[in-house]
Amino acid sequence: MSQQKASTTAVRAGINTDQHHGAVVAPIHLSSTYSLKGFNQKRDFDYSRTGNPTRSTLANAIAELEGGEVGIVTGTGMAAVHLICQLLSVGDKIVIPHDCYGGSYRLFVHLAKRGQFDVIVVDQSDEKALTEALAQAPKLVLIETPSNPLLRIVDIAAIAKQSKAVGALVAVDNTFLSPLLQQPLSLGADIVFHSTTKYINGHSDVVGGVLVTKGKALGEELAWWANCIGITGPAFDSYLALRGLKTLPLRMDAHQENANEVAAFLDSHPAIEVVYYPGLTSHPQHELAKRQQKDFGAMLSFELKGGVEAVKVLFDNLKLFTLAQSLGGAESLISHPSTMTHAGMDLAAQEAAGIKQNLVRLSVGIEDVQDIIADLSQGLAASQIEPA
Ligand SMILES: *Cc1c(COP(=O)(O)O)cnc(C)c1O
Repeated sequence: MSQQKASTTAVRAGINTDQHHGAVVAPIHLSSTYSLKGFNQKRDFDYSRTGNPTRSTLANAIAELEGGEVGIVTGTGMAAVHLICQLLSVGDKIVIPHDCYGGSYRLFVHLAKRGQFDVIVVDQSDEKALTEALAQAPKLVLIETPSNPLLRIVDIAAIAKQSKAVGALVAVDNTFLSPLLQQPLSLGADIVFHSTTKYINGHSDVVGGVLVTKGKALGEELAWWANCIGITGPAFDSYLALRGLKTLPLRMDAHQENANEVAAFLDSHPAIEVVYYPGLTSHPQHELAKRQQKDFGAMLSFELKGGVEAVKVLFDNLKLFTLAQSLGGAESLISHPSTMTHAGMDLAAQEAAGIKQNLVRLSVGIEDVQDIIADLSQGLAASQIEPA
C-alpha cells in the first residue's frame, strides 16, 4: 500500500473501513466518549479529545501523503503552530523567517515577550544571517516556503542540513503547496504542518490544522501534548476535510493551470510593477522551486504602479474576485496583506519583510481562467484610469 500514488491515497482515505454496515465512505463519529468492553478492557478509542476515529482517518491519510510516521489533527492551523511551541522550554531558541505567516509571527513574538522561549527572526535566504542565527544553537528552526505573501523560496534541504549540524529540529509550514506539491520530510525536516483551512479542505468551510512528524517518538511526544492542552480537531471538521482531500489532486492541477496563465497575464500588464510567482522564469528562485517543488502552486502577489490608491480602485471594481483573507478554496480571493493577513506585524516589521502598501495577493481559484483574467483586466484598467 505504501507504494500507491498520492492521488489514490487522497481519494481512498477511510474508504471501506466501516466494519458494521460496510459504509463505503468512512462514517463520522461524533461521540465524545467510548465504552470499555469490560473492566480494564479498553478499545482503540476512549475519549474524543485524546482520539477519535474520524480524526484519525484524516491524520493517517495526511501522514501518509507527507511520508511521516505520526499525524495529529488540530482545531486550527495556529493550534498546530502552538503545538510545536510545546517543544520549547524557557531559554530555548527558535529561528523563524522574517516573512512567515502573520499569525505565526504574532504567536512566536508574543510568547517570547512573556519569556516562554527566545525567538530569532531572520531572512533565511540570507546565508550569513542564517549561519549567525544557527550559531546561537537554537532548539528549533521554522521554515515557510513559499513564503506568504511574497512567494520567496528557501532551500529546505540545505537549511535542514545546516540546522541538523547544530542539533536543531526543523519544522516546515507546507500550507501553500499541500503535500502533493512539496514533501519537506523527504528533504530533511522533522515536522511538517498545514492549515487544512486552505488547500487540503479546499472549500472555505472548515478551519483546521494538521501536523506530521517524520519520527515516531517526536510524534508521540506532540500527540501527548495535543491531548494534554486540548487542541485536537473536531470530528465534524475532520470529516469535511477528508471529503475535501479526495479532490485535492484534481483541484491542485486546476488551480495551478489557472495560476500560470494569470501570472503571465499580470506579468505583461502595464499597471503592474512586479509579479511574485515562482513559476515565472523571472522569479529569483525559479530554479530552486523547480527542483524542490513538484509544481508552482496557485498563490501569487503583485505590486501596483499606482500605489495603495490603485489597490483600492482595483478592489472596488472587481466583480468575480472576492475580497477576503484566506486562500486555497475553489473560489478566487484577493487580499491586501498589509491591512489584512499581515496586520499583526507592525509597519516596521512589514517593511523589513518587504510587504509594501501597493502589494496585492491572489489565491487563484478554479473558475474558468478566461473569466478570472477578464475580471482582473477590467479591474486593472479602472485602476489606471481613475484619479488617485
Ligand atoms: C492560514 C495559515 C496558517 C494558520 O492557519 P489557521 O487555520 O488560520 O489557524 C498558518 N500558516 C499559513 C501559511 C497559513 O496560510
